[in-house]
Amino acid sequence: MSDAAFRELQRMFASLVASTAAAPNLADVLADHAFDLFEANIDAQTAHLPTLACAKGCPSCCALRVTATAPEIFLLARYIRQIDERMSATALGSLARRVKLANRATRGLSEAERMTRRQPCPFVVRGGCVIHPVRPLACRGHASFDRRACAQAMAGRDVEVPVSAPHIALRSLVQDALRAALDAAGLASDLYELNHGLALALDDPEGERAWRNGEDSLASARIAPSTAAQTDQVLWSRAAGHEATARDEA
Ligand code: SF4
Repeated sequence: MSDAAFRELQRMFASLVASTAAAPNLADVLADHAFDLFEANIDAQTAHLPTLACAKGCPSCCALRVTATAPEIFLLARYIRQIDERMSATALGSLARRVKLANRATRGLSEAERMTRRQPCPFVVRGGCVIHPVRPLACRGHASFDRRACAQAMAGRDVEVPVSAPHIALRSLVQDALRAALDAAGLASDLYELNHGLALALDDPEGERAWRNGEDSLASARIAPSTAAQTDQVLWSRAAGHEATARDEA
């Protein structure tokens, strides 16, 4: 995908930031647009590839560290609050509490330690992702052609997992364009560890407003580029096959 495509996406995000300004729904508008862009383009990018193995009921990779931008985290925090309000007495329990417990279990762990610990994402329930409509770009961009290889890799076996490079490339294109537009507008544009970022956003309802005003209210969940590279190493050391040639942040 070309520089021109990147610049066009960046312009679209910049225009959304400008038109939405400091409105309360800025995070939702940007995250929704990022998800729409990914979903609207991924089929065309992967039409020549075999069918993916990823399907409901396979949460094999949902123990890897997930990173997300601030808009994705604030959108997801709002979604979690709404679900918790509607489903307070179900067997599912509070999603906010699940996030808090997961954060306690994973905070500060390296990618290798997380692989060893295999702590599932707090949103895996009965093998499915309960926040699927608003799952982060990182999850959308990780797609495999071999379910068995994924399970073996997550169990610590030294196997190659054939992943879809177009998924990773498109995820990276959309995410980088969003981050560039945020940065140009003076908004925090880093990547954050999902469990920690969500715990912060859920604990502090004013955090989103602070982010819109140019503060980095998720700063303590920030993922340093060198740490994100650990995820790359884990993912790509196990990736092979179908156009698995691009590399980027997880
Ligand atoms: S958010 Fe959903 S898709 Fe992403 S790791 Fe968690 S359960 Fe899996």
